[in-house]
Amino acid sequence: MDKIKMTTPLVEMDGDEMTRILWKMIKDELLLPYIDLKTEYYDLGLEHRNETNDQVTIDSAEATKKYGVAVKCATITPNAARMTEYNLKEMWKSPNGTIRAALDGTVFRAPIIVKGIEPCVKNWEKPITLARHAYGDVYKNTEIKVPGAGKAELVFTAEDGTEIRETIHNFTGAGILQGIHNTDKSITSFAKACFNYALDTKQDLWFATKDTISKKYDHNFKDVFQEIYDNEYAKKFEEAGIEYFYTLIDDAVARVMKAKGGFIWACKNYDGDVMSDMVSSAFGSLAMMTSVLVSPSGVYEYEAAHGTVQRHYYKYLKGEETSTNSVATIFAWTGALRKRGELDNNQDLMAFADKLEQATIKTIEEGKMTKDLALITSLKDVTVLNSENFIKAIRETLETL
Ligand code: NAP
Ligand code: MG
Repeated sequence: MDKIKMTTPLVEMDGDEMTRILWKMIKDELLLPYIDLKTEYYDLGLEHRNETNDQVTIDSAEATKKYGVAVKCATITPNAARMTEYNLKEMWKSPNGTIRAALDGTVFRAPIIVKGIEPCVKNWEKPITLARHAYGDVYKNTEIKVPGAGKAELVFTAEDGTEIRETIHNFTGAGILQGIHNTDKSITSFAKACFNYALDTKQDLWFATKDTISKKYDHNFKDVFQEIYDNEYAKKFEEAGIEYFYTLIDDAVARVMKAKGGFIWACKNYDGDVMSDMVSSAFGSLAMMTSVLVSPSGVYEYEAAHGTVQRHYYKYLKGEETSTNSVATIFAWTGALRKRGELDNNQDLMAFADKLEQATIKTIEEGKMTKDLALITSLKDVTVLNSENFIKAIRETLETL
């Protein structure tokens, strides 16, 4: 059989630890035998980021803007322990943060629904899609470790030199400070991405912030959403029979737990980070979630929502068997391939992406799965496979479709 041809390359961002191992297995077993894979490769593994002073991350984001579609492996965000472990020159920033800041936009995360893996929140009958604002706030912060007594001020200097100045705190001893920001432009594109996605998928949209406490910062998010909704979307939502619903973040959290699902939950950057992990693990596993960054300029970056699965990687290094779930990473590839196919009008590529997803789901529904799923499935007599054999089992299913 001829391999599927590609016209435009995908931007391929390799990553770290266990997901880097899965990345190669997925390519070797599930992609390269079927596709004449065209990628522009960027090694975002921590060692190479360190060697290039993180330039490789910036280059990969620029390439994504150029080609329009990227697929990214999970990467380490260095902390103090990683500084020693990898002998780093600097505590490099989160690659996801850097890429999101460059592309702007919104991250949509939805659970991958499989028969036999039921959400542990019993009333969730339909998927909950999380829309995470991907720009600013704590992910683009400036921090100071205050050494001792003194006055902290928030100062804005306009281009004409006028100042706005507010006292943050009069320190009587050591402490900490953090400056964060967002822009109306980014919040506007976040709002539009959410409203458009709600219309596309015909689902209600929920949005929540802490505007009662953060009367300017969070309130601005609420106001921007409401204004755009009233001016541009209210009528379209009515026609589509869907709703836009705003509430406080703590109220939203409480309501989500009681809801049936089937809606999009728009969250600010940090809320989205935390809540997507909660929603995905409640739906089954961190590895059963799709994640895509959609930029306002129509650029797409597909990734897994989970991390590099460090604990499994250390077992792998010791030669011990691992059973790491590769579904989210496979779906990052299929999402990217399908989008590339759509943009290039490459029907074969789109059909292959569908088929690979089908094969992955069918393999699990037939009772072949990794340990994380075996622990929670309602299916009987399941076969627990190791990382490699699960991918091989998917290939076997793929050959039958
Ligand atoms: P993690 O990689 O998300 O894994 C945490 C735990 O969740 C694992 O130990 C494992 O539980 C379970 N798990 C996650 N993904 C799994 C999978 N595919 N299959 C089976 N089990 C899975 O988080 P971490 O180990 O705390 O973080 C490791 C690194 O990832 C950190 O350096 C962090 O910076 C980075 N990170 C990257 C991204 C990203 O690039 N998108 C996101 C988050 C974190 P058990 O050990 O109980 O089996
Ligand atoms: Mg997270």
